[in-house]
Amino acid sequence: MRGLRQTTRVMASAAPLVTRDGRTLLSFSCNDYLGLATHPAVLAAATEAIARYGAGARASRFVTGEHPLLGALEARLAHAKGMAAATLFGTGYLANLGVITGLMGPGDTVLLDGLAHSCLFAGARASGARFRRFRHNDLEDLADGLRAARARGGAGHVLVATETVFSMDGDRAPLAAMRALCDAHDAWLLADDAHGLGVVAGAVTVPLAMGTLSKALASQGGYVCAAEPVVRLLRNRAASQIYSTALPPASAAAALAALEIALAEPERGARALANARLFADAVGLEPPQSQIVPVMLGDARAAMAAAERLAEEGFLAVAIRPPTVPEGTARLRLAFTAAHAEADVRRLANCVRAL
Ligand SMILES: *Cc1c(COP(=O)(O)O)cnc(C)c1O
Repeated sequence: MRGLRQTTRVMASAAPLVTRDGRTLLSFSCNDYLGLATHPAVLAAATEAIARYGAGARASRFVTGEHPLLGALEARLAHAKGMAAATLFGTGYLANLGVITGLMGPGDTVLLDGLAHSCLFAGARASGARFRRFRHNDLEDLADGLRAARARGGAGHVLVATETVFSMDGDRAPLAAMRALCDAHDAWLLADDAHGLGVVAGAVTVPLAMGTLSKALASQGGYVCAAEPVVRLLRNRAASQIYSTALPPASAAAALAALEIALAEPERGARALANARLFADAVGLEPPQSQIVPVMLGDARAAMAAAERLAEEGFLAVAIRPPTVPEGTARLRLAFTAAHAEADVRRLANCVRAL
């Protein structure tokens, strides 16, 4: 027994409280960073969309046509990200599969940050391109990879993929420097903003800005923002979009409402960050770069025991273990949100200090 077996439990939620095994826990493991999953305006938008348009999308958008809510959400996302256009997918996972397989193929090269999300690796593998990982956030290793890809010659495309905010470590990619390197080597840069949108404002634009509707936007779905011709190409090439049923109208409506609130109330993201800083300060960790704070425990069993201990204290703080994270780096991954009260963050810090 190495403490790696995955199990699931029944969980009901009214963020940030969850009920698990009959017990109510305060969750520090949900990605509803802005506290919008239960916001009345988000719920009303979803409910109204269901009443007007029905429960499901009924077909791929290329079969039955566009739902107006999808186009509206795409335009709003593109605008929010400072990009020309956007296209939606069923999930963030499908967005990464679609963008990489849509743009890359045999003869091309994909360079991935070593700690990038599993679906970026899945996309790279499925594309048939050569792929190689570079050391996490290591610009020199990336530069070596880019030079090697170019030295192999040929007209192959090169794509570099990373995360704006790393999902399990909470640190950020050096995007400005990466962008400059990619430009110098005529490579695409894909930045997965699953954990940045609405919380950590990105000052750097990248040619391929991908993200999910399922975290800060409290809904379901994925998106890729890019230049118009690139989005047109993806609509024609991304199999994970073309051959999959469109987002349900309710998901698009909820995400659209959540995006408006996120833009109108930037204090929500600021509150999530302030809670993360408060916690890190209280337990003596470095100031965090985002709302995600890992408490490193190393051994998978130690991480499981710590999670159990916190559950006894009334907190949901799940242990993240290999293969989600590298061997020997099992941890509690704590996600702070706008919905957490300062007193609860302090109480959690006291319990974590006592571990
Ligand atoms: C959650 C996540 C995804 C997948 O998004 P879904 O909408 O949940 O499929 C992709 N990339 C990163 C970095 C994520 O954390």
